[in-house]
Amino acid sequence: MSDTPKSDFIREIIAADLASGKHATTITRFPPEPNGYLHLGHARAICLNFGIALENAGSGARCHLRFDDTNPEKEEVEYVESIKADVKWLGFEWGDNLYYASDYFEFYYDCAVHLIKNGLAYVDEQTAEQIKDTRGNLTVPGSPSPFRDRSVEENLELFAKMRAGGFDEGTAVLRAKIDMASPNIVLRDPVIYRVLKAEHHNTGDAWCLYPMYDFAHPLEDAKEHITHSLCTLEFEIHRPFYDWVIENCPVPAKPRQIEFSRLNFTYTVMSKRKLLTLVKEGHVAGWDDPRMPTLSGARRRGIPAVAIRKLCEKTGITKFQGITDIAQLEFEIRDYLNTVAPRRMAVIDPLKLVITNWPEGQSEDIELDNHPKDPAMGSRAVKLSRELWIEGDDFMEVPEKKYFRLGPDRHVRLRGGYIVKCTGFEKDDSGKVVKVLCEYLPGTKGADAPEGVECRAAIHWVSAEHGVAAEVRLYDRLFTVEDPDAAEGGFTSVINPDSLKVIQAWVEPALAAAEPETVVQYERLGYFVADRHEHQPGTKPVFNRTIGLRDSWAKK
Ligand code: ATP
Ligand code: MG
Repeated sequence: MSDTPKSDFIREIIAADLASGKHATTITRFPPEPNGYLHLGHARAICLNFGIALENAGSGARCHLRFDDTNPEKEEVEYVESIKADVKWLGFEWGDNLYYASDYFEFYYDCAVHLIKNGLAYVDEQTAEQIKDTRGNLTVPGSPSPFRDRSVEENLELFAKMRAGGFDEGTAVLRAKIDMASPNIVLRDPVIYRVLKAEHHNTGDAWCLYPMYDFAHPLEDAKEHITHSLCTLEFEIHRPFYDWVIENCPVPAKPRQIEFSRLNFTYTVMSKRKLLTLVKEGHVAGWDDPRMPTLSGARRRGIPAVAIRKLCEKTGITKFQGITDIAQLEFEIRDYLNTVAPRRMAVIDPLKLVITNWPEGQSEDIELDNHPKDPAMGSRAVKLSRELWIEGDDFMEVPEKKYFRLGPDRHVRLRGGYIVKCTGFEKDDSGKVVKVLCEYLPGTKGADAPEGVECRAAIHWVSAEHGVAAEVRLYDRLFTVEDPDAAEGGFTSVINPDSLKVIQAWVEPALAAAEPETVVQYERLGYFVADRHEHQPGTKPVFNRTIGLRDSWAKK
């Protein structure tokens, strides 16, 4: 983790609370709802909450991982497991501090009873529609429910009946009794409990009424003695109700809610609902498809966790809602991988090159550095032989201006080896060049071009005899427009049809031995990762393109 001291308005509040003695330590939480996989946006909240705990470890600070699983309808165990794995992968640990909001059902219930006893909550038997229609709007105050002034006894009895299953779904709710004329609509007697005859993944059928998020969340925070409850800006208007719950319920601590802006990216959709649509409608292969902006998708794409943390650090924590250029994340990915990824040779658009003056069956070891700037990464031997694969676009029958690679009578250096001269080429019936014929210049390995030979480029290659066939998936951005959410036909109408191309490549043998999740640079092509699930050392390699060497979208 980086040692750069971080500062933002939230960290300033936390430092002040420690300095003034308001809190002896800091306890934060990351509270995902297990209704989908974590995405890049969550990374901001994770880095913030776990980061603050790490920075304040000296005073005993900690960050809880809490599953906000009070809604029985959309939550699944698969999501719980993926969330744990993704938080760890991003580089954070919760230690013993793993919590489930569904463990507090009894506590929320007791708090609701407490509110009823204090005349602060009532059972409303209006329909959802009636409740909505009497809420009022920004200019018109709400009107009170005919059930608003029920006695405490009657409310206690009806609430117990709700718990006992005596009401059907939609026939009764519990509402906080606050102010139907409040300028803040959230405070117009919000619903705090509803009847839901649904099975819960943790509590089974023990409950048939469930608390609303706005009521449960402050209670979860208080129950865990959270000092600073950090959430995204859309909860700002809910804060008065958060404070009301804390003020009026028998809670063991008084957490403070502070809001910050969400992390959003161009060319990306981020809400879990939309990500689920992409999965369900088959636009991608699953939640961890390398094109998905999920953390598990990023991992499978070969995006290093460090790059995501760096991005979060650089974009910081503010109150201003903005949209982050995805190129900023791509910059961090390239910046990091450039220093750590070993170089390898691979050909993704293979064209045969034959060195006609090279003896058949003979090969020579070419020693290549694993990294141009890091000698500690060592070197490896790659076999050079008579027949090679080179990249299709490294030959042009009629070279354009400023094209310095192969063409008739031209010279080029084979990376790490000899200079070759193109002496001819062969085409198939369709007129496509399928073979390039060359002669090599003995004595040019590790030496300058001889007098009179113009050689201005070096190209990568893979020995046809020694290379290994690999499946390579060329991933690109999933959407063609900057703001897919704003697309007239909806975000699924602007999916990039070229976001995935599966090709057959030739790679140097070292890549067949790579462990899954190894990221390398294919020289001159970009960064590629051995697929986490489908690549197995010793079998046909399966690689995913993480990212090209340059931003190919910048010039579009
Ligand atoms: P989504 O709207 O994408 O489905 P959510 O807010 O419903 O996300 P939760 O599982 O409730 O997702 O989020 C857990 C935590 O992560 C919350 O504290 C939430 O504020 C934070 N979070 C979610 N999305 C972002 C984001 N894009 N940027 C920063 N924090 C986020
Ligand atoms: Mg949510």
